Amino acid sequence: MKSFTYERATDVAGAIAAAQQGRARFLGGGTNLVDLMKMGVEEPSHLIDLKQLSLREVRPLADGGVRIGAMISNAELAEHPLIAGPYRVLSEALLSGASPQLRNRATTGGNLLQRTRCHYFYDPAFSACNKREPGSGCGAREGYNRMHAILGHSPQCIATHPSDMCVALAALEAVVQVAGPGGERSIPFDEFHRLPETKPEVETTLKPGELITAVDLPRADGKARSLYLKVRDRASYAFALVSAALVVQLDGRRIAEARLALGGVAHKPWRCRRAEAALRGMSVDDPTALTRAAEEEIAQARGFRHNQFKVELARRTIVRAVQLAVAA
Ligand SMILES: Cc1cc2nc3c(=O)[nH]c(=O)nc-3n(C[C@H](O)[C@H](O)[C@H](O)COP(=O)(O)OP(=O)(O)OC[C@H]3O[C@@H](n4cnc5c(N)ncnc54)[C@H](O)[C@@H]3O)c2cc1C
Ligand code: SF4
Repeated sequence: MKSFTYERATDVAGAIAAAQQGRARFLGGGTNLVDLMKMGVEEPSHLIDLKQLSLREVRPLADGGVRIGAMISNAELAEHPLIAGPYRVLSEALLSGASPQLRNRATTGGNLLQRTRCHYFYDPAFSACNKREPGSGCGAREGYNRMHAILGHSPQCIATHPSDMCVALAALEAVVQVAGPGGERSIPFDEFHRLPETKPEVETTLKPGELITAVDLPRADGKARSLYLKVRDRASYAFALVSAALVVQLDGRRIAEARLALGGVAHKPWRCRRAEAALRGMSVDDPTALTRAAEEEIAQARGFRHNQFKVELARRTIVRAVQLAVAA
């Protein structure tokens, strides 16, 4: 690991000011960044520890929503009374991620910015990785790509975003609050992460030196049903092959509104707008229409040598998520 300097920020303004120097990085729980530093993938010259910032609060907003501080741990957030009941999909997604020890350390801000788990990215012994070294190629396209994307990939990168929490935040239409040298701004969740296109090294719309301070959830509809369904190789401590976060409102036996996002399939949480449109007005007793709605989304999916199975898995995960949610 390359040597670096370290400081504990005591307020947001100080953290932002410190981030203007050299290759500075914010440190949340360190569960991803420190691994990447050990591997030689990230080489910050300065670490700004955020632990002492007062960003751990979860509190109601005047509009009925909830503000989640960027530094609350994933474990604490999952069990918080303002989250566990009203935003079940978020609580379930958090509890399906990593292990209890990791969830105790990992923070909201860090979870949003965790890097892909593509092996070629993590191991500098592989020279071809456009995300690590722009212009060097993509080892995964012709290599081993079982965990990789089937939607929204580009010739430059087929990596997936590994977070569970972010899939739920996409379905909930959260808003990311950030502060930086240019002041404060709000970023709708769907606009926070990027598809790889020709610049896979640029993963979000954050500007240099911007700090995530909070994530806002809109008011929860007390009558909506929601769930997180994660399909993975082991029952725990494994990243999603495919996952689905669903929030659905029923009108009798019909779907009035649905918000659906998939994880494990793209460079960002994949909002399923085509499936959502097809689900609207659909009878929950019509399995053929449900399969058609899933197909509307998945028709655009393209797999690679080792992950072709994800196309059918994603289709079935959508169907199963809707069936479970409406039966609950
Ligand atoms: C073995 C293992 C298994 C895992 N399994 C899963 C899983 O199944 N599902 C899942 O979702 N995740 C999983 N994870 C990933 C884990 O959830 C992330 O490592 C964690 O969420 C990152 O949070 P952190 O606070 O530790 O981030 P850090 O490692 O501290 O930071 C990550 C990045 O975010 C930046 N950052 C941190 N906070 C802020 C902020 N407030 N503003 C701006 N930038 C910030 C850092 O500079 C860094 O670039 C796993 C991790 C490991 C090691
Ligand atoms: S998929 Fe993306 S992260 Fe993985 S090797 Fe290719 S460019 Fe790198």
